[in-house]
Amino acid sequence: MGSAFNLGKVFGIQFRLHYTWFIIFILITTSLSWQVFPFNYPDWPLVLYWVMGIITSLLFFASVVAHELAHSLVGRANGIPIKSITLFIFGGVAQMTREATKASAELKMAAAGPACSLAIGGLCALLWFFTQGMIEPIAAMFQWLAYVNVLLAVFNLIPGFPLDGGRVFRSLLWRFTGNYKRSTRIATQVGRGVGYLFILGGILIIFLRPFGLGWFSGLWLAFIGWFLENAASASYRQAQWRETLQGFTVSQAMTSDCPVVPPSATVNQLVREHILISGHRCFMVSDESRLMGILTLHNIKSVPQPKWDMTQVTEIMTPVDKLKVAHPNQDMLSVLEQMDENDINQMPVVSEGRVIGLIARDNLLRLLHTRSQLGI
Ligand SMILES: [Zn+2]
Repeated sequence: MGSAFNLGKVFGIQFRLHYTWFIIFILITTSLSWQVFPFNYPDWPLVLYWVMGIITSLLFFASVVAHELAHSLVGRANGIPIKSITLFIFGGVAQMTREATKASAELKMAAAGPACSLAIGGLCALLWFFTQGMIEPIAAMFQWLAYVNVLLAVFNLIPGFPLDGGRVFRSLLWRFTGNYKRSTRIATQVGRGVGYLFILGGILIIFLRPFGLGWFSGLWLAFIGWFLENAASASYRQAQWRETLQGFTVSQAMTSDCPVVPPSATVNQLVREHILISGHRCFMVSDESRLMGILTLHNIKSVPQPKWDMTQVTEIMTPVDKLKVAHPNQDMLSVLEQMDENDINQMPVVSEGRVIGLIARDNLLRLLHTRSQLGI
């Protein structure tokens, strides 16, 4: 997901704010300050509607963060590392660098979010109960937060993958059938079905306006349905890729002829004397016998062409201390996961202490591309 601001790290997890978050923040704040609070409490001064609207809206997003954090911390405790949490228009999404390898781990991780939302909802209901009749704006805030957190838990428990309920559903299928692939296919198909139902429901609301619902609610529901359908399809494609990658080893996809270039070479020399003539795409920078780093076309593209003459290969290579090493018999999926976890695009392939090739993201993409072109 592009165009997101980094907010900082909590528990080693990067928090990000996608620009679409501002849309939903403004929407919720104005709906609270313009409709919900004025309708239920007509005597408040105008400024109080807005102050309480903003505070309540921010606390709601704090609840969404808590929900995602619950997934992430339970996931991490079960061996599923979480890299970042992004808040966007439909709530939050935790980016994991690998999928669960055990049904029980997936079940715990998926259930943690809705459980957290229910707990927050319960806590807010208690606080509402105790502030009721004392401080009206605070009580009103807790009442709304209690309602919306329960709603968040219930919505997420809808059994369409990739919603939490869909993950719970897949983990149960997986546990009982022992077949991860089939469980994923069924859960994502149900997810797409749920998406279509939402779209249909949205259209019906727009035209029939039942229960006094406005066209905007219908549009919103259809929009969520469209998003769910897309996310379910994307999850299924991703699962297929993962399976393909799992079936290949590093030695089957790596580039094995990486010429050695001296550290004194410039980018210009490298391009003219090696890349244009031999068509090699990877290089090892080495003085005498010591490997100093590796270079791919990716590194070269980071330097503007007029500077090629003044830039030495050592300035743009990935130095050896930043490199993670792959093994020839490792499966490609675990390599991709390692790249995602470490934010790297390439790894030297080492066998018995010797560099025998290079595996880059390009290799993985080319493999997937070839397979899809051949339809296998
Ligand atoms: Zn969740």
